[in-house]
Parts: sequence; C-alpha cells; structure tokens
Amino acid sequence: MKKYKDALDLVNISRRFEKKNAVDNLNLMLSSGQVTCLLGPSGCGKSTTLRIAAGVEKQDKGEVHISGELISDGKRQHLPPELRSVGLMFQDFALFPHLTILQNVIFGIKSHGSKEDIFYRGMNLLERVGLSNICEKYPHTLSGGEQQRVALVRAIAPKPKVLLMDEPFSGLDNRLRDDIRDQTLSLLKEEQTAVLLVTHEPAEAMRMADTIALMHDGVILQEGAPYNIYNKPVDARVASFFSDVNIIRGVVKQSRIDTSFGWFITPGIEEGTSVQILIRPQHLKIDFDRKGKGPFPTSEDGVPARGFVARARFVGNESLIELRMSADSSILKATVPGVFLPSKDTPLWLSMRRDRCFVFKI
Ligand code: ATP
Repeated sequence: MKKYKDALDLVNISRRFEKKNAVDNLNLMLSSGQVTCLLGPSGCGKSTTLRIAAGVEKQDKGEVHISGELISDGKRQHLPPELRSVGLMFQDFALFPHLTILQNVIFGIKSHGSKEDIFYRGMNLLERVGLSNICEKYPHTLSGGEQQRVALVRAIAPKPKVLLMDEPFSGLDNRLRDDIRDQTLSLLKEEQTAVLLVTHEPAEAMRMADTIALMHDGVILQEGAPYNIYNKPVDARVASFFSDVNIIRGVVKQSRIDTSFGWFITPGIEEGTSVQILIRPQHLKIDFDRKGKGPFPTSEDGVPARGFVARARFVGNESLIELRMSADSSILKATVPGVFLPSKDTPLWLSMRRDRCFVFKI
C-alpha cells in the first residue's frame, strides 16, 4: 500500500543556502483539481519550494512524491524535471520567439498522439482562452495578457499531474489581472490539474486558492481555506499578513486584561503573561457621540473608547481614519465604507467587534 497518494507530496523538505535555511522541514500536499497558493513575503522560500517540486533545485533533505511515486529523495533518486509530469509557468512566460502561438502550445505534446489529435488539443485549448484566431501569430506581436494565456495553455497541454506557477500574474497590467485570474482558474478547474501557485499577494491568494499555505522564514505557519486562515489566524504574523492590524497590548491579571475598550477575558493564559489583541481596521466601529446609544455598556461587554482624529484619507472604496486614543495616546486605524473625512482633532468614539479580535501571547 502506498503511503503517499496525492498528486504532489512534499515530505520534510529542507534546503539550506550558506547559513540560511531557505526551506525548513516543510510538508505540503496537493490534490487534483485543487489550487494551493504558497503565500508569503519576499525571501521566505516560496520559489525554492516550487523549484524543488519541479526538480530544477535539489533538496538537502526530504522527499518529493508525485501520484504516490517517489520522484526525489534528494540523494540518488532524482527524476529530472522533464520526466516528472509537472507543468511550469513563470512570470516571464518564456515563450519560444521563433515559434507561432500554436507551435508554442503543442511544443511539449509532439509525441502525444496523431498529428490531428495534437492539432485538435492545441486549437481546443487556444479556443478556450479566446486565442484560436491568432494561432498563426508570433509571441512578440501579442499583448502581455495574451502571452500569459498562451503560456498557461502551453503548460497544461501535456495534461501534467501538477502545475507549478511562480507569480504568473505579476507581469500584467492591474486592470487585466482580475479577468485573467478568473479565466485561468476556470481552465485549471476544467482540466482538474493540481496547482501550486506562488504569490506574495494576499488578495491574489484569496481569489485563486482552495487552500492557502502561508510561509514565513522557510516554514509553513498555517494552511487552510482562505476563509479560515483569514478569520482564524494561528498567530500575529498570519493575521497581519492579510491586512493592516491594530495591536493593543496588555498583561494578564486575574485571567483578564484591562484595555480602554474594557476587559478581555483570557482563559488559560498564565498570570503575568504579556498578550496582544489584534483587530483589523474594518472591525473598529466609529461613532460621533454616545447620544441616543442607551446606557454605557459594562466593561465586560466592551466599552467604546474615545479618541481624536489624527488623519483621515480617502483610499478608494473606503476612508481610513487614524485616531489618537485619549487613554494612552496610541494611534488606532479604522476604516469606513465610502467617503468620511472628519477634520483633524474631531472627537470620536471607537467600539470594537469582540468576535473579530484575536488574542495572542507575545
Ligand atoms: P521572492 O518572492 O522574492 O521570489 P521567495 O519567497 O520565493 O522570494 P526564495 O527565492 O525561495 O524566496 O529564496 C529564499 C531564500 O533563499 C532567500 O533568502 C534567498 O536569498 C535564498 N536563496 C534562494 N536561492 C538561492 C541560491 N541559489 N543561492 C543562495 N541563496 C539563495
């Protein structure tokens, strides 16, 4: 019985460069038809992981399995990239300039059946991305978005078990990106390929992924569906990677911490431990005053805290307000949908959605 059965299993992978562990005992598995986004800041080891899966980089330790077969143990057993049934797509697209679009697409499947079958597969893929009418053109005559689609269909033409994509949308115009991402996703789902997509953009990962693996300093901090990883981060690094966060610090006394927003109960955290409460700006609610709001809530339920506007900016669909809090002069950020630009020093009340707070030990 095979121990590993997924489209791709990376098992205890490590890779060290000079004094740094670029990838540190990493485990990751991909299923067919699923898009996994390897997300993380620059230099955290995403590309190295992808290159090890592809076989263009050798791990120091650990194993790569594809569809249950041991592909590389980093030592004697090391199948070269072309024999791994992996498709590769990089940000520069790397199309062959001397071949037409159709020739580019069928380049990797020349031995996969009759001439008619190969032609049909190439044209069918081009049609599905709306490019069959330009199959005779050469890459340099295409726009960036068109080149991206050609690179995509070229990578999936041989029906690889695993498609590895390194920042495949980063060279594209912002306005094009969302459409191309959606089209890419539809095609990948139709083809049922297992996809590992490397990106440093949280919004891209949220849009594309079935599973996000958040990487930091060579390790995966958390893996899960976008909704879970965003709403149930395991630590402050994960929470703050997805958006700006406000941080309120305190020390546990009698199983709670006192803040200007009232008490926070901290069950299970030892007396004297320093903790931080994280809350995203969109989960701080702004009130002009407390009139008509009924009795002041108890400290246990959470109380509004007063602050004065330090800065207010319109940032697209919403306004970002920075408040200097009366209690401790700290700055907290809140966002409000639409245009809301109170002048500097306007007094405001902030209340906190407690169900949206994350409490972590420091
Ligand atoms: P980016 O998003 O900027 O591409 P990344 O998360 O993909 O970053 P990697 O390219 O995997 O990160 O690099 C991880 C670490 O390993 C970095 O510190 C990088 O400088 C180092 N590194 C990668 N390749 C090599 C190499 N061939 N020689 C030496 N150091 C390397």
